[in-house]
Parts: sequence; structure tokens; C-alpha cells
Amino acid sequence: MATTTTQPSFAVSPASSNPIRFGCSAPQCFVRVPKPPCFRRRLVSTTSFQRKIGGGGGLIRCELPDFHLSATATTVAGVSTENAVDRVQIPKGEMWSVHKFGGTCVGNSQRIRNVAEVIINDNSERKLVVVSAMSKVTDMMYDLLRKAQSRDDSYVSALEAVLEKHRLTARDLLDGDDLASFLSHLHDDISNLKAMLRAIYIAGHASESFSDFVAGHGELWSAQMLSYVVRKTGLECKWMDTRDVLIVNPTSSNQVDPDLGESEKRLDKWFSLHPSKIIIATGFIASTPQNIPTTLKRDGSDFSAAIIGALLRARQITIWTDVDGVYSADPRKVNEAVILKTLSYQEAWEMSYFGANVLHPRTIIPVMRYNIPIVIRNIFNLSAPGTIICQPPEDDYDLKITTPVKGFATIDNLALINVEGTGMAGVPGTASDIFGAVKDVGANVIMISQASSEHSVCFAVPEKEVNAVSEALRSRFSEALQAGRLSQIEVIPNCSILAAVGQKMASTPGVSCTLFSALAKANINVRAISQGCSEYNVTVVIKREDSVKALRAVHSRFFLSRTTLAVGIIGPGLIGATLLDQLRDQAGVLKEEFNIDLRVLGITSSKTMLLSEIGIDLSRWRELLNEKGTEANLDKFTQQVHGNHFIPNTVLVDCTADSGIASRYYDWLRKGIHVITPNKRANSGPLDQYLKLRDLQRKSYTHYFYEATVGAGLPIISTLRGLLETGDKILRIEGICSGTLSYLFNNFVGDRSFSEVVAEAKKAGFTEPDPRDDLSGTDVARKVIILARESGLKLDLTDLPVRSLVPEPLKGCASAEEFMEKLPLYDGDLAKERLEAENSGEVLRYVGVVDAVNQKGTVELRRYKKEHPFAQLAGSDNIIAFTTTRYKDHPLIVRGPGAGAQVTAGGIFSDMLRLASYLGAPS
Ligand code: ADP
Ligand code: ASP
Ligand code: MG
Repeated sequence: MATTTTQPSFAVSPASSNPIRFGCSAPQCFVRVPKPPCFRRRLVSTTSFQRKIGGGGGLIRCELPDFHLSATATTVAGVSTENAVDRVQIPKGEMWSVHKFGGTCVGNSQRIRNVAEVIINDNSERKLVVVSAMSKVTDMMYDLLRKAQSRDDSYVSALEAVLEKHRLTARDLLDGDDLASFLSHLHDDISNLKAMLRAIYIAGHASESFSDFVAGHGELWSAQMLSYVVRKTGLECKWMDTRDVLIVNPTSSNQVDPDLGESEKRLDKWFSLHPSKIIIATGFIASTPQNIPTTLKRDGSDFSAAIIGALLRARQITIWTDVDGVYSADPRKVNEAVILKTLSYQEAWEMSYFGANVLHPRTIIPVMRYNIPIVIRNIFNLSAPGTIICQPPEDDYDLKITTPVKGFATIDNLALINVEGTGMAGVPGTASDIFGAVKDVGANVIMISQASSEHSVCFAVPEKEVNAVSEALRSRFSEALQAGRLSQIEVIPNCSILAAVGQKMASTPGVSCTLFSALAKANINVRAISQGCSEYNVTVVIKREDSVKALRAVHSRFFLSRTTLAVGIIGPGLIGATLLDQLRDQAGVLKEEFNIDLRVLGITSSKTMLLSEIGIDLSRWRELLNEKGTEANLDKFTQQVHGNHFIPNTVLVDCTADSGIASRYYDWLRKGIHVITPNKRANSGPLDQYLKLRDLQRKSYTHYFYEATVGAGLPIISTLRGLLETGDKILRIEGICSGTLSYLFNNFVGDRSFSEVVAEAKKAGFTEPDPRDDLSGTDVARKVIILARESGLKLDLTDLPVRSLVPEPLKGCASAEEFMEKLPLYDGDLAKERLEAENSGEVLRYVGVVDAVNQKGTVELRRYKKEHPFAQLAGSDNIIAFTTTRYKDHPLIVRGPGAGAQVTAGGIFSDMLRLASYLGAPS
């Protein structure tokens, strides 16, 4: 029957009576069957007959229920494509603009209308539009296949859902004859699919070509619907079943290679039958040279567009998707990924090969040949210019100003295989043997790394292929293993690859160093490394569980503030609260001027905690803690602040005086969490625990800072460290390092009694609520221990003689009030000491002493000449004198306010900045 349709026609009939093949244009394949007007396929199942299977090329005997698929192309008045060839050649060149719309772009009827509008608004002379299936449809089709193969009869209802989705969309978009015609085709297709799936259900198996045939239907339907919608606007438009045009050869690694020559011929043929200025083509699907339906594999529509763009020598290919372009990293994993304005072909290829699924990796190859630019754009944000992928000119400005690394991508679910042995060194052919074995099992090697000693070769393969590969290797090398020439074939499961991509890496020294230090600082272990000679990428293999963290760590190092820190504040008391307020006031400046981004992700008191994924609004932290706080739980707190992979480095700031919290530092440091604290408990607690902590700190890249434990914000610990690190030798450290005791003795003058000064200080808030906590000297003793240990002395608190200013009988007072009431009774003792001192022109000062020469320390009330710097002190200032081999005659003195919330918080803050600079922030 002659038809007036311009669309290709397919038919399927029982092979027993009419063995036909799925064919596009080869006349010998055609079997004409009566068909409804327009393009149709029919499918009939049989029980056992011969069929042609995908990729093979010969007829094989198959015991399974089977179908024969055929595709014929009819022309106007039923003339076959073959007869019409060579009459018209498709025009090629700049007049063509190629678009590709991804699944989400055609996800529902409204979106299909938007797509039509974009097509109409492109005023290019000729337009070829490649469409994916509506979003999720390809997944649904594969799911049908899986269900049918596993004899799960819910495939029937799943197919019904596919029908319903398209029926509803079509009803929304089309009406009249268009709707009737589309629905009639849709129902035919669905009933064919039903029969086919039934056969698959019975067989419990589907060949690859059958699967591909089923899976490709989504594109057939979306392309038809879109072409109806465009035509409805009055524009002439044809839809193209790309199985009639794109010819591809399957390769061993489950990929296909386009046959450009044959495809070009078929495109000319197709065009001669369907000349049009707007063509809507199916993405994803193609045929083998034997006309067996196949696909370009998952996400292959980008590749379809690239092949067609190359066949047409198009001016540009625009790939429309749901993001603004190619980001510097997967935006689903790295919130702060940035859009890349341009990418070279190589960069785009590397990014997509290593997992940036915004572009199918094979898309680049066909277009590179003709220098056709690809633009990635967002259908949902037409104002975004997108990313241009092209060959940048040598003097490309954008290339010059961007960082050497353009982007990062990861591939998960890999395993590493390490083939190791001394017998490999210098033996020609080992690598070939190894990869020959890998090839034999059809596994895909994603990266290779070989030590120059040739002692080991390691490579990454998809996890699902690792068992087959390792078995093949063990069998291939069984002799070498037995003879000991190979020591092992080791499989390291649960790996991921992280790739840094950028053309400019080739000419920029230090990129790898920065990359590796960012990984080290995020406490991520690198298992293997590879860098190609092109230097377009550096690839590292890491643990699967570290994948996202690593991506964020390296991304933030190259793209964000140089240093982003996740901060958890423990103890929002006076000091903690002051610190939070200081952070609030300073955060903006730090970010803008110094590239340091301090994000407080958690605040916890002993009762309540407040957590945030992205950072607590510090202008409202008190209110938020009250209103949104949940019950405090330090484990959860730590987990959440540190578990936030978005920020690679975590610091917990302990602003309490709690030994329970201090006892957790070791565990935190071990987990890679940096610790900053003014809490003296850990450093003045049991010596063995302190030594363990310091040992861990020295061995790892994790930092532990505690400047504010002595002298609040004064640079005491850092001065001491500076002296030691530069080779000076500490002889003695002596100082007034309690603001309270400094105040008491600075004011214990004239005819004032000691108890009177204590009462005054207590009233002014300069003492602890119970002044005995200051007067006992324990706080000073802790500071002495900290300084002594920092100087290398192995002292414990119990080794330290401490002069307590709490009169013995008052130690047992039940309350601070009782103590204060009774203190005047003992004023005589200190008055006497002061008088004796004054008589010799001296003052009393309560000091801590580290005697490094004699390896001991004391806390005592000492007398100093009135001219001595210690005697000149005012208010609650601290003063520390370092006597060293370099500063022997005149000690090095650090003096200033050494107590109070502002200066203590300032000390902690400066530790945080020090941490940021250790982690790579600019100085
Ligand atoms: P389409 O269906 O339009 O082909 P895909 O889902 O295949 O879309 O690809 C787009 C998706 O790729 C985006 O939604 C994004 O989540 C993901 N993606 C992964 N890496 C990147 C990256 N580096 N830049 C942009 N998108 C990326
Ligand atoms: N629809 C196909 C898939 O989902 C091809 C594509 O969308 O690129 O894999
Ligand atoms: Mg895609």
C-alpha cells in the first residue's frame, strides 16, 4: 500500500513465515507488510526461530521465543529510501545549528513547549534538534527489561505507567488528528513492547539488541511529540528516527564507534526523502551496519548530537540541560562549584571521562575534528550564558586568568589491582601480559600507575569487573606466582578516582603539590597516582568513603577561599560567647580580604546544642541556640560538624574548663579534627596522656593549638615555641601568669589589707566565684606545667610545690561567703611578709617558675626589687620572662593583659587564624 508519509516504516512479523530483519535502508532487508498510514512497527512473538542478534552479523539458532524486527523506510508514494538516494545531498556547514535537549528539558508537557519555543527562537537557517527521552523514561524502560528478565510480572503495570506518562503528556500538548495519530502510534508501540517483554519474561533473558530496541522507545516518543508541537506553530519540521541514519559499530568495551562515512551516506538518503529546515531527531538510538537497532549507551544523546553535528559540519551544538553549564565540580556534591565559562575540548573530555556526567565523554571526539563549538546551557535559566567548549586560541584571555585546574571529577565504585614482584623489573612484555589478561575479560581499565622500578603495576577497574580481572591475572601468572617472580596480585576494593583537570596544569609548577597537600590536610590517604604526559589531568586513587570529602577539599583549595574551616564551638560561656561575637564581627573581612572562610557549624553547651549544615548565622546565635537548640550530645555534635564533607577541615574549639572534654582531644585529632582550646586540662593533666597527645599531633597533619591556656591572648606559647624551634635553649621561665593574682598583689599596697583587696577584686568580677580557686595557686600551677612541658620537662602537677594563699583553716569553708567572711582573720600573715619585703625595697609577687636547668618548677610568693619589671605591673597584667642561652643577661619579656574574656577569645581567634594559615591561607 502506498502511503503519503515521509516517515520511515518498521514492521515486525513472525519469522517463521516471513523472516525479516530490522533494517533501515538496505533493500534486501525489506519485507513490506501492510501498515497503517505513517510509520509503524508491528511485532509478533513466536516460539523458536532464527534471529539475527545485535552486533553479530550472522544468523544464529536461538531456542528462545523470539521476534524479528524490521525497519523499512517508505517515502512519498512508497518509494524506498534506496531508490531515492543520491538525488539530494543534505546541505552542510554553518547554516546548521544543532541543539540537544536532555531528559529533564522534555520532562513534561510544559517543558516540551518551552523546548519548542527555544527551537523557534533560534533564527538559524537550518536547525537539527536531538532529543532524549522524557526524564526517567529510559530508566523505566530498563526497569521493564529487568523485571521481565527476572520473571517479575509487574513489568505489565510498569509498561502501563510508561504508556500513561506519554498519553497524558500528548493529551496536554496535542489535539485533533495530531493527537489521534500520535496515540495510535504509541498504542501500537506499547502493544509491540508488551508482546516482546512477554517473550523476554518467558525466556528469562533478553539479548543486547532486544534490550536496546526496548530502551530506545523513549526517544522515539519524545521526538515525535516535539515535532508535532513545533509543526503546530506553523513551521515545517520532520522527525528523524536516527536508527535510519546513525550507523555504529559495537566495540569490545560495551561502547560503539560511529561509522561516519556510512552515516553520512544515510543522512543524505534520509534528507532526500525528508527535506526540511527543522529536523527533530531521536538521541541515543542508532543501528549497526547490519541494521540491528542499538544505542549509544547510557546518556548517549549528547554523543548523538555530536555525531550529527559533525555530519552536518554545524556551526554550533548547544546541549541543553538542567544546570547552568559545566561546573568546576559536580554541583550535587560541591555546593560552591563555579561555572566554567570556557573549556577546551581536552578539558571537557577529561572532565566527562572522569565522571562529570553533564557531558557524555565521547561527545567531544566527532566535533573536535571540525572545530565545532559545544555550548552547554540551562533550559531553566536562559539568562545564563553557559559553558563554551572549543579549541581556545593560544592567547585566550580566559585561559590565562583562570586557575591551572579547571575542575575536578570523581568516579566511584572502582577497585585497584596491584601486581607486584621483583621478577617484573626489566622483563619486556609484563605490562602487555597483564593488560592482555584484562582485555580478555573485557574489563575497562580506567587508570594505570607503574612505579619506575617496575616493581609494581597498579590499575583501576570498575568494582564489578574486579573479580574476573583478578582471576584472569592469577591464572595468567600462576607460574610466576609459584616461582616467586610475582609476589602478589592484590585487590584493593572500595576505591574512587579523583581527577584534577586543566590544560594550564601543563605549564604551571606546583599544582600537584597543592593538590596533594589539600588532600593531606583533609587527612585523606592517596593509594595511587597517575599523571599523563599531556598533564591535562592528575588522577589519584582514594578510599571510596573519602571521595566526596576529597572532592570538596581539593575544590575549596583551588576555587574557594583558600581555606574554609568547619568550626564547632564547645562551651558558649563568657569566653566562648565572646569568641562567637568576635567571629561574627570579623568573618566578612577574613573572607573577603584574606580568603579565610570560618563557618561555625555547631555550638554546644553542656545542655543544648545548635547545628547547621551551612553555617550558623552568628548575628543570632544566642537566639537560635535558645529557640532551635536540641539536647546536647557531644558525639552527635562532633559527627555533624566533622561529617560535613562540604568543608574539608574541621576545628573544634573547647572553651570549657572541663577535663572530660579535654580527654576527647586525642580521639578528635586521630580523626583528623583540629583542636584549639584555652582549656588547660589536657596539657596539665596526667603526663602520659599529654605525651600521647603531643606525639599524635607531631605525627599527623592535624593541629592542636592552645595559646590561650597561658596568658590569654599574649603570645607566650608561640614565643616559647619560636625560641625552641630556632635552636635556643630555655634556662628559666618566670612570670606572673594569673590576672587575678597579678591584680591582688599590684593593689596590695599602702595600708590596705589583703582581704580587702580580695573583696574588691571579687566584686569587680576579677576572681572566680570562689576566690579560693585563684588563691590556691592551682591555676598558676597548671600554667607552669604547660610551660615546663612545652620546654621539654617531664613534670606532673604533683611534682610542683605550690604556695597556696588560702589559709589552712579556711580550706574547709563550706562556701565562698564563709571564706570571705573569715579571710580578714588571717590578714596578719601576708601583711608581715609584705612589710619585710618593703623594708628591703622589694614587693611581693605571686609567680610561677620553670627552672629548666634543674628540671623543676614552683609556684611561689617571691620578692622583687622595686625596679624589677615584675614590680612595675599594673591592673591584672601578666608578665613572663624567658631566660635562655640567647636571652641570658636580659630576659625576653612578654607583658600585657593576660586575663579577661576579650583577650582570651582573641587568643583563641588568633589560633584559628594560625590554623587557617597552616592549612594554606595566604599570609
Ligand atoms: P541530561 O539529562 O540533560 O543529559 P544529565 O543528568 O546527563 O542531564 O547531566 C546533567 C547533570 O550532570 C547535572 O544535573 C549535574 O547534576 C551533573 N553534573 C555532574 N558533574 C557536573 C559538572 N562538573 N558540571 C555540571 N553538571 C554536572
Ligand atoms: N535517554 C538516554 C539515557 O537516559 C540517553 C540520554 O538521555 O542521553 O541514558
Ligand atoms: Mg546527559
